[in-house]
Amino acid sequence: MRALNAVLIMILVLAVFFIVVSCNMQEQGNVAPTPSVPAEQYISPTPDSTHLPEPTQEPEPTGFTGLPEPTVLPETPTQAPAENNQPVDYSVVQPNESGDIPIVMFHNFIENLDDTTDNFYTTSFTEFEALLETLYNDGYRLISMRDFIDHNISVPAGKKPMVFSFDDGSSGQFNLIEENGKLIVNPKSAVGVMLKFNEKYPDFGLKGIFYLNMNLEDKTFEGAGTIKERLEILLSYGFEIGNHSWGHFDFSTSTSKQQINEKLGKNEKRLREIMDDAKFYSFALPFGARASSELRDAMVNGMFEGVEYNNQTIMAVGAQPSMPSIAVNYDPTYVGRIRAQGKVQEDFDLTYWLPKMTNARMYISDGDPNTVVVPETMAAKIDTEKLNGKKFITYKR
Ligand SMILES: [Zn+2]
Repeated sequence: MRALNAVLIMILVLAVFFIVVSCNMQEQGNVAPTPSVPAEQYISPTPDSTHLPEPTQEPEPTGFTGLPEPTVLPETPTQAPAENNQPVDYSVVQPNESGDIPIVMFHNFIENLDDTTDNFYTTSFTEFEALLETLYNDGYRLISMRDFIDHNISVPAGKKPMVFSFDDGSSGQFNLIEENGKLIVNPKSAVGVMLKFNEKYPDFGLKGIFYLNMNLEDKTFEGAGTIKERLEILLSYGFEIGNHSWGHFDFSTSTSKQQINEKLGKNEKRLREIMDDAKFYSFALPFGARASSELRDAMVNGMFEGVEYNNQTIMAVGAQPSMPSIAVNYDPTYVGRIRAQGKVQEDFDLTYWLPKMTNARMYISDGDPNTVVVPETMAAKIDTEKLNGKKFITYKR
């Protein structure tokens, strides 16, 4: 009788085990992207400009209050696994490397959203972590701004590239803490959350560009360490830094090219004083505000007190996914970004966009950074002059 009971308990345990395993498998099954969208349903990646909102006003940078408790993180970031070089079946993957790439814009991160009155520019660490999970499951993979500019996109076949950008150098984005005499990344920071997420999903990518106002000096990424140590540690993980101007200047009030040279060049100069070999190559417009058209070329390149700057992308504040840099209509001097949702959801933020960023609209990778693959009907969207040695392939969808 006792033996029979033992057998019955064993059967019960096994039954529960199989139910749990099959549930997990179903969940994993949902992760795969569902391509197969007929070409007719394709939505133009250039929405009618009359339907676009004016770029949202960005807030003045605010200080971060209260550094939460640390937990231990590994010292070196995990590398993404090597890609396999299996040939890709276009009819299955349905690559479209003329589609849109979302560039997400973040500002402040705090522990508890109840502690802020800001409805639009602050995210909690918990919500950020949940967002990473959502983006990963939706098939997004992070690429760097450098790779966006160069169109050097190596996300796996069927996946969608995405860029993360962070403005104003707030402490919640990234700060260091001292542990056993060593400087480590505070796990209660966006970078800390990303490092932890990267351990679980190394193929998501550990990328992002941080747009800095160097006049803030030690207020940038406020916490332990010097500004030099902070920047060195941030860059050591493969993150990038960009120009956000000296003094968070409103470029719509520019009165001369010399003034623009100073606001951008002085920021660049201060960076080089801190790190000789560092250089900005991308500029995010404070408040999303541009100089008047006759002054605009000074925002791309110029010089201040012997220091040259060259901004290969100039980032807007709103309000739509961007074309890839090889698109015919791509304008590197005004590249769209999507604001991450804050406390309150509103039109044109990331939550608004996610369901609209369908496979028919977005950039779907063929998995090979050396080819540009697009459905035949979209071939005209690609500027073949910008291919830079990559092989251009079209296919019938
Ligand atoms: Zn800003």
